[in-house]
Amino acid sequence: MVVIDGVSDRGLVTPLDSAEKPNLNKLAKMGINGIMDTIKPGVRPGSDTAHLALLGYDPFKYYTGRGPIEAAGVGIELREGDVAFRVNFGTVEGEGSVFDKVVVDRRAGRISDTDELVKAVNEEVDLSKFGVEFIFKRGSGHRGALVLRDDLSDKVSDVDPKKVGKKVKRCIPLVDDEKAKRTAEVVNYFVQSSHEVLDNHPLNLERAERGLPKANVLLLRGVGKVPHLPKFEERFGMRLAVISGTALIKGVVRLLGGDVIDVEGATGGKNTNLDAKVQAALKALEDYDFVLLHIKATDEYGHDGDFEGKKAFIEKVDRAIEPLLSLDFSEVCLVVTADHSTPVNVRDHTADPVPVTIVYKDVRPDDVDTFSELKAYKGGLHRITGNNLFNILLDLINKAEKFGA
Ligand code: ZN
Ligand code: ZN
Repeated sequence: MVVIDGVSDRGLVTPLDSAEKPNLNKLAKMGINGIMDTIKPGVRPGSDTAHLALLGYDPFKYYTGRGPIEAAGVGIELREGDVAFRVNFGTVEGEGSVFDKVVVDRRAGRISDTDELVKAVNEEVDLSKFGVEFIFKRGSGHRGALVLRDDLSDKVSDVDPKKVGKKVKRCIPLVDDEKAKRTAEVVNYFVQSSHEVLDNHPLNLERAERGLPKANVLLLRGVGKVPHLPKFEERFGMRLAVISGTALIKGVVRLLGGDVIDVEGATGGKNTNLDAKVQAALKALEDYDFVLLHIKATDEYGHDGDFEGKKAFIEKVDRAIEPLLSLDFSEVCLVVTADHSTPVNVRDHTADPVPVTIVYKDVRPDDVDTFSELKAYKGGLHRITGNNLFNILLDLINKAEKFGA
């Protein structure tokens, strides 16, 4: 399954429809096509919920927030019941406690190396008086993830004010119970205590001297409790692997018990090494039954509102996927699709359905000969959801169970 993140758009002239993409078009011609609402019609998907749906998991049942997925993505071994947060290193200024200070940069000048700071927080912050264990790991750039391990609640508010010029928000319980109250208390203690460690850390004193923003606060958001997720292999009898440069997508797959295949140069950005990712995906088919190849930058160009950039990147993807045309489609079932639309004229995810193409020996061919959000509806799949797609795939490869006698 190739997921080209946010590849489709809104409007009559789109980057995907106008791109030169002979290889994607060949696949559309060989396969059966349709349009897809990854979650359901009118629901704007996040990349995380959309990928759950594409992998056969009902996001309304299994999604408990971004924190757990981000934490799995940075490599934290989660346990059911853990409470996880996304973390940004930010910059605060002012006097008093951390909650009296004002956020002046939510990304601490896009700091790139936080290893020393993460180490200091892990060594010096102590939650043992609450009987709580914590795991704090860095992600890429200014990002990270925090896990609190104890019988805690995810019914608490964010610490991140999400805007510069505002004070750090005190975490408050969102329901009236002891567990939520205690969780908020632990979170506030962690934020204050880590602020003290970070504000005086030599690396930050040095940054301040060089005129760079200190990475002196941990802004927590996206709290969620790690759900019970039946493993992909147990549910479907298939070994799952992902090739992606994006922590969030790696996190989804890790939560489902799948493997992450790291590829040199797979950055999850516009400079990613597409050829290496495609080669890694082909190789992974030797060891895995279900391989997800995720390509991110199309979504970024959408968020940037960059029509020409998105179109040019789609053409690059088209050249990179050429080796997939030589797959043996009597053995391999190939899907090319997206997790949602990210129209350049909206600069965010929308619920406009995405194109989907399935190439496999026994699919019924249709008249669609272009991989395009504007043409795919004419195909034999018509309009389906992400969960529908997964079921259709299970049926095509003869792994579906019979309903009834
Ligand atoms: Zn996405
Ligand atoms: Zn996006």
